[in-house]
Order: sequence, then structure tokens, then C-alpha cells
Amino acid sequence: MRFEIITIFPGFFAGIFEHGIVRRAIAEERVKVDVHDLRAFTHDRHRTVDDRPFGGGEGMVLKPEPLAEALAALGIAPKAERAASAPTLAPEERRKDGAPAQLSSAQQTRVILLSAQGRPFTQAVARELAALDRVVLICGRYEGVDERINQLYCDMELSIGDYVLSGGELAAAVVVDATMRLIPGVLGNEASGAFESFGAADAEIATDVEGVPRSQHGAGGLLDYPHYTRPVEFGGLRAPEVLLNGDHQQIRRWRREQQLRKTLANRPDLLERAALSEEDRRLLETIRRERQ
Ligand code: SAM
Repeated sequence: MRFEIITIFPGFFAGIFEHGIVRRAIAEERVKVDVHDLRAFTHDRHRTVDDRPFGGGEGMVLKPEPLAEALAALGIAPKAERAASAPTLAPEERRKDGAPAQLSSAQQTRVILLSAQGRPFTQAVARELAALDRVVLICGRYEGVDERINQLYCDMELSIGDYVLSGGELAAAVVVDATMRLIPGVLGNEASGAFESFGAADAEIATDVEGVPRSQHGAGGLLDYPHYTRPVEFGGLRAPEVLLNGDHQQIRRWRREQQLRKTLANRPDLLERAALSEEDRRLLETIRRERQ
């Protein structure tokens, strides 16, 4: 998979992908990250990328021409042209759900504008992106990007949260990090992505555990449970006894309960769409009653 980042501050990314899992994924060539300097696509002496907003008001706006040139240099045509040149497949070349069996390279590419006005970037979106071959990330600055770039080229606008950053660079780094760790082979343990916070209820993993509802094998959209390591005692607190006794059934049940407790306390909104078993619901009721 390849990420292409368009920015006026390419130096921002120096070092940011040189640590841990991300560094390893790049070194093993599972992922490639290319950073493109938007100023390389200007033609004036001052390498101007911005201009005053039509209609007046504060700040500057990233001009459309350098961005369009940068995208053209990456082989990205306007959306309308991409759609027109996408191959129309015969019915036998389509999967049952109607999607083409073999996606073209244009279909395997997403052009994304980082924007506070975008749709929220979630683990579900990261999973969607991790299935693609190529993601192009446009980093805004100043008051943002001329809207015509969004209209003409971008497949989606993504926001990493309900706050305003100074630029799209941090947001792009967040999208790259969260997405690349979901690419098969990037995490050492393939299953660990499913067990983390927001992990999907997973039908494929840990099928050997008897008596534990399947939804409890993956995070099922809940937050992760708390983790402990040595020493057993720290700061006057002992690690939970259940984690020390080696009974995997009890450990799983305890962890699931902790997931439900944490999600109820910190992100009750997630419970509405979480994959909950009957047992989860009963447990949740008990926790709710306890808290009243
Ligand atoms: N005028 C814009 C608004 O009120 O929505 C804010 C522009 S912000 C100062 C400059 C750039 O930072 C944006 O164009 C965008 O690329 C990036 N940015 C700011 N907040 C963001 C967020 N929450 N998620 C993703 N990108 C963000």
C-alpha cells in the first residue's frame, strides 16, 4: 500500500514515520509513504501557494492550481474523468454484492482532503482505507483549501476530531499510522488489531474458545480492557488477581466486563452500535444498576 502526502511543509514528516511498527512496515516494504512539496508545483519566484479569500475575511486560502498540478503529477485525474475511464465489467466479472471482482487502480485509490469539516476518521474508515492500494492525502493550511479541489478531486474529506488544527499534516500522520497497522502482516500478531479498542466483532479469530460468545473474541466496537504487567504490586496497587491465576476462561470474562465498564464510563455512545451478546447485555445491566 502506498500513501502520498501533499503538503507545504514536507519537513514536518521527517522522523515521524521512523519509529516502531510504522518504521518496520516501511522497511519491510509493506507500505510506502511519499511526501510531496506543494511548492514544487508553483511557477512564480515566491513559490506562492496561497491567496486572499474571495468575499473577504480572515486568513489565506490554498490556491487550486498548484494542488491540481501536484495531483496530475501523481497521475490523479479529476473525479469525473476517473469515473468515466473506470472499466465497465461484464456481469460475470462482478461479485454477488455487485462490486467489480477486480478493482482498477483508479478504484483502488482514494484522494482525501484533511479537513475539520470532514467526516470523522474512525477505526471503521481506517479499515476501509487499509483495503486499498493507494491513499493520497491533501494537507490544508491557513483557512483551508479552495473548495473546487475538494469538488473536483477528493473522494472524501476526513476530520480527525472536533477541534481545529493549524494544518492537515498531523491529521495525515494520524490517518497513515492508524490505517497502516491494519494492513495484513504489519502487526506482528495478526489478530491484535481485532482485539484493540474499536476492533470489529471478529468471526475469524480464536475459534477454539469454548463457552465464550463469539462477539467476545474481538473488541466488537468496544474500548479495550485495561492492561497490567510486572511488578504485581505497584504504588500500593495489586494487579487484578484474576489475571494472575492462569484461568483463561475467567480472564476472558473479566476482560469483557472491563471493556463494557470502560466503554460505559468513557464512550457510552459506542454501546449503541457495539456487537453485544446476550451475556454482554446482562452484564451491562448489572454494571448500570451498580452505578445508580
Ligand atoms: N477554516 C477551517 C475550518 O474552520 O474548518 C480550519 C482551517 S485549519 C486552520 C487548516 C487546515 O488544517 C485545514 O485545511 C485542514 O487541512 C487541517 N485541519 C484542521 N483541523 C483538522 C481536523 N480536525 N482534522 C483534519 N484536518 C484538520
